[in-house]
Amino acid sequence: MACLFCDICDRKVPSDIIYEDSKCLAFRDIDPGAPSHILVIPKKHLASLNDLTEDDSAIMGHLMICAAKIAATEGLSDSGYRLVVNCNKDGGQTVFHIHIHILGGRRLHWPPG
Ligand code: AMP
Ligand code: ZN
Repeated sequence: MACLFCDICDRKVPSDIIYEDSKCLAFRDIDPGAPSHILVIPKKHLASLNDLTEDDSAIMGHLMICAAKIAATEGLSDSGYRLVVNCNKDGGQTVFHIHIHILGGRRLHWPPG
């Protein structure tokens, strides 16, 4: 099954990787919506939030903790930032390998569009 973000994990598609460990990968979004726009993904392929089970609790918790650490490395902790996970059509999901967006570096609007 072709998956862009699995291919990024496997280095079949180039990306600007800023963090990696045994369970996850983080890279800069190719079309940034904010001065800092980073995607954090599990190495395990999970298509969307709808596919999560209790077995994925540890990996999803790990992604959140990594996202906060990466935001700190980006200098966003004090000014603030937003984590977003889009799901399916109405949520605006376009890549069906689960990912957390880290957005920061400017004042973000609420509610989002
Ligand atoms: P979503 O719409 O929540 O599924 O987010 C998918 C994100 O992936 C979008 O913000 C895209 O800009 C980003 N994206 C798509 N292709 C690439 C790529 N090759 N490298 C980095 N980011 C990408
Ligand atoms: Zn995948």
